[in-house]
Amino acid sequence: MSIMVERTSLDGAVSIVTGAGGDIGSGIATELASAGSDIVIADVDVLETAYNQQSSQEVSGATRAQAVVEQIEDQGQRAHVVECNVTKPEQVDALIDETVSEFGGLDLLVNNAGIITVTPVEEMAADEWDSIMDVNAKGVFLVSKAAIPHLRESEGSIINTASIAGDIGAAGLGHYCASKHAVLGLTKSLSLELAPDVTVNAICPGIVQTPMWEDVLTPELEESYEETIERVIPMGRDQTPDDMGRLAVFLAENRNITGQAVTVDGGILQNVI
Ligand code: NAD
Repeated sequence: MSIMVERTSLDGAVSIVTGAGGDIGSGIATELASAGSDIVIADVDVLETAYNQQSSQEVSGATRAQAVVEQIEDQGQRAHVVECNVTKPEQVDALIDETVSEFGGLDLLVNNAGIITVTPVEEMAADEWDSIMDVNAKGVFLVSKAAIPHLRESEGSIINTASIAGDIGAAGLGHYCASKHAVLGLTKSLSLELAPDVTVNAICPGIVQTPMWEDVLTPELEESYEETIERVIPMGRDQTPDDMGRLAVFLAENRNITGQAVTVDGGILQNVI
């Protein structure tokens, strides 16, 4: 008896997912792998800045990414971790070179690495502002720029992990909201610059239980994580890394969607009254 293998448009594709040692990125990487793509994960263990959601320089992203690689290899796809700080142009260039030389090309770039702190603007040091903007916004620019020649060649896609913070303001998150608004502006502009070769879209998660919430946002609120979910999400449940992964596959497979930001928030942004 022959086994039917379901073919998708991601069969044989090569994808880079930045920050896939973390939860949302690993959800995206494993869903892309399930759809047939090989995966290169770009992540770091240590940031030069103290400003990240783990309140130290340690993020352990590249180390955690090894477990994601094993999971993807178990799914039958090739996977590989490259230690790459998305704010460093020379490391970004090496990431793209290594991907193309080892995997033979590049079809999809998912700019997902991101960090967060909570500080009112009146108390914010300039280097805290810079740290958040560097990873969340400049990192998207740097990795996209380096990847574009290969993505044009393969008629590929860019998917950026933005946030509902790209749509709204939030007290204490001026820098983070500014960075995610920047990602959406870049997404829309790049979609015009790269058409008709490359599609460029954004995913805007609502609330996903990752270190961003556990280490930073929940401790700031005078309620539990579960109470936040119940208060702000009309659908009554948080969103998952798999939600973001399935949307990434959908966007990567569709050549007629570009310049869009798709929100996956269970209705949070409609919940104003
Ligand atoms: P996470 O901390 O689990 O993952 C982030 C990953 O990015 C980590 O593995 C970290 O090591 C990596 N990273 C940080 N700085 C980096 C750098 N300079 N270079 C390379 N890698 C770097 O967080 P997450 O919640 O999975 O966040 C993923 C993305 O989703 C972020 O862009 C975040 O802003 C966005 N987001 C998260 C939520 C949420 O509720 N968790 C909501 C909206 C948007």
